[in-house]
Amino acid sequence: MRWGFIGASNIAERVIPSLRKIAGQELVAVCSRSAARAQQFAEQQGLASAHTELSELLALGLDAVYISSTNEQHAAQTLAALDAGCHVLCEKPLAMSRADAAQMIDRAQTAGRVLATNHHLRASALHGQVRRMVEARTIGRVHAVQVSHAVYLPPHLQGWRLDAPGAGGGVVLDILVHDADLLRFLLQAEPRRITTVTRQQGLGQGQVEDSAMSLIEFDGGVLAQTHESFVARHAATRLHVLGTEGTLYAEGSLTQAGGGRLWLRDEQGEREIPVPTVDLYEIGCSAFVQACAGQGAPLASGVDGERSLAVALAGLASAASGRAQPID
Ligand code: NDP
Repeated sequence: MRWGFIGASNIAERVIPSLRKIAGQELVAVCSRSAARAQQFAEQQGLASAHTELSELLALGLDAVYISSTNEQHAAQTLAALDAGCHVLCEKPLAMSRADAAQMIDRAQTAGRVLATNHHLRASALHGQVRRMVEARTIGRVHAVQVSHAVYLPPHLQGWRLDAPGAGGGVVLDILVHDADLLRFLLQAEPRRITTVTRQQGLGQGQVEDSAMSLIEFDGGVLAQTHESFVARHAATRLHVLGTEGTLYAEGSLTQAGGGRLWLRDEQGEREIPVPTVDLYEIGCSAFVQACAGQGAPLASGVDGERSLAVALAGLASAASGRAQPID
C-alpha cells in the first residue's frame, strides 16, 4: 500500500518504523501545516514528498493515510481522505464530537474504505491474555477493574495537550479514551454510565485538566475505576481485574512499549503468567493492512473510536456537572 502521513507529529515518528517492518508498504509523503516541518519530517523519515495542502497529498493516488494531527483536525482530514479513496488509520480520539465521529463512520461505509482508530493497547500480548482469561472465566465472574494510567507527560509533549482545549487537550481526551477502549476490549461489554472528577495538579493551563478519576459502570454490572494523569512522576501503570474466584494484576502494560508483567492470584496462590513484549504499532498497522486487503478487521474500528470518545465526552460532562452521566 502507498501511504501518506497527515501531521508531522511525534507519534508518526514512532509509528513509521513499525509500519516499515510490514512487507509491501511504500511510505510516500507527509502533509504538515508548516512547510519547514513537512520538509524536515520527509527528509528524516525518507519520504519522497512534503506538502502543506492536504489536497496535494491526496492527489498522489495513495491507498492509505495515517492521521496523527491534533485532535480537532481528525474529522475533516478523515472525510477528505475517504473522499479521495484512501483507507484511514486515525489517531485517537477519533474526533471531538460524536456527530463528527458518526459522519466519519458513515462516510467510510459509503466509500467502502477501512476506518480504524489507533487504540494501540489492544495489540498488547498481555492484554490479549487478560481478555482470554476473562472470557474463559479463569478468575470467575469479573465484578471490578482498576486502571491506574497515571504518567508524567514528557517535556517535549508539554504543548497543546496542556493549554489548548480547542485542539482536544486534556488528559480525558488523551488517556481516558484509551482506558475506555481497553476496558471494552477486556470485558467485551459496553459502558453505560460514568462519574468523573477532574483536577489541575500543576501542568494543565486555563481550563485544561491534567488529572482525572472516573467510575465507569458496565453492562452486566462490572464497576471500573480509572485514574489518568499527566503529573505522576515515576509511577508504574497498573491494571487490576477482580473476579469472584481470583484476580489478574498487571504492571507496566499501559504504555507504548508493548511489555509489562502479569500475575494470576487464586486459591492456588500467586504465579506470574509469562507474556512477550511486542511492537504494538506494528501489530496494529498489520491488522489494518490486512483489513484493507479484505482480511479480518482492524484492531479498533471507527465504531470503537466513537465508543471510546463517547465515554470521554460523558466523563467531561460529568466533571462539569458534578453528576453521573449516561453513555448512550
Ligand atoms: P505532536 O504535538 O507531536 O503533533 C501534533 C501536531 O502538532 C503535528 O501534526 C504537527 O502539526 C504539530 N507539531 C508537531 N511538532 C511541532 C512543533 N515542534 N512545533 C509546532 N507544531 C508541531 O502530537 P502527538 O504526536 O503526541 O499526537 C498526535 C496525535 O496522535 C494526537 O491525536 C494524539 O492523541 C495521538 N497520539 C496517539 C498515541 C497512541 O499511542 N495511539 C500516542 C501519542 C499521540 P502540523 O505538522 O500539521 O503542523
